[in-house]
Amino acid sequence: MSTILELPTKHTKSKPPRALGIVSLVGAGPGDPELLTIKALRAIESADTLVYDRLVSPEIIDLAPPGCELIYVGKQKDKHSLPQEQICDLLVALGRCGKKVVRLKGGDPFVFGRGGEELDKLEAAGVEWQVIPGITAAIGCAASTGIPLTHRDHAHAITLITGHRKDGDLKINFDLAMQKDQTVVFYMGLSCLPEICAELIKRGKNPNTPFAAIANGTSKDERLVIGTLNNIAQLVAAAELPSPALLVMGSIVASRQALMELGSTHGELSA
Ligand code: SAH
Repeated sequence: MSTILELPTKHTKSKPPRALGIVSLVGAGPGDPELLTIKALRAIESADTLVYDRLVSPEIIDLAPPGCELIYVGKQKDKHSLPQEQICDLLVALGRCGKKVVRLKGGDPFVFGRGGEELDKLEAAGVEWQVIPGITAAIGCAASTGIPLTHRDHAHAITLITGHRKDGDLKINFDLAMQKDQTVVFYMGLSCLPEICAELIKRGKNPNTPFAAIANGTSKDERLVIGTLNNIAQLVAAAELPSPALLVMGSIVASRQALMELGSTHGELSA
C-alpha cells in the first residue's frame, strides 16, 4: 500500500503555551487602494503593527486602526532604509512579542517582493505567518492601460522578468525575453531601459517590436508611453517618466496603440 504524504500548505503548528503573534505578508496591490483584497483590508484594520515599503500608497497606510504602530522600512532603490536581513529580524521579533503584524508590500509579496525570504525566516523562527496575495504591478498596469497580457492573436504566454542591475551587470534572462508569441513584462527595468533595448536588438529582436512603459500604474498619477523597441528609451527619457515603472513588450501593445489612435479612449501615447 502506498502512503500519500500530504504537506500542510498553511502553518499548522500545535498551539504554543503563550499567545504568539502572527505576521501576515500582505500584498497592497500596485497603487489604487481599491485594488486591495477584502482579506488584506481586514488584516490591515486589525493590525497592531504595520511594517511597510515605499511602494505602498499612503491611502492604504491610512487604513491602519488608531494606535497601530507604523514602521517604514523603505526599499527605495539603492537606499534601503533597513537592509533585508534586519527587516526579517524585525518581523520575527514583532511576531514573538505576540503582535498582529502586517507586513505590507507593493503588488504581491511573492512577485519580486522578497516575500519568500521573509517567510523562510518566520518559519525558521517558529513564528506563525500567513500570506495574503495582492495584485501585482503587471496585472494592475495591464488593466488600467487596457493592454491585455495574453491574447489569442498576439501572446500565448507572459514572462515577468526583473530588469535590474546587480554588481554592475544586467541580470536578465535575454533568451527568455527573445521568445516569440508572448508578452514580456520587465519589473525594475526603467534605469536600464536603453541597455535592455540595445541588447534585444543586438540579439535579433525586431526593432519595430511594440513597447510600452507605464509609470505609477493604477494611481491617479499613471502615465503611459508607447513606442517601439527602437525608440522607447528616447521617448521615456523625453517624457521624464518617473519610477516605479513597468516595461511591456509585445505585439499586443500595438493593438492598444491603434485603438488609442482611433480616439476610442483618452490617454497619453507619448509625452
Ligand atoms: N511586488 C511588487 C513588485 C516589486 S518590484 C509587485 O508584485 O508588483 C518593484 C517594481 O515593480 C518597480 O520597479 C516597477 O517596475 C514595478 N511596479 C510596482 N508598482 C508599480 C506601479 N504602480 N506602476 C508601474 N510599475 C510598478
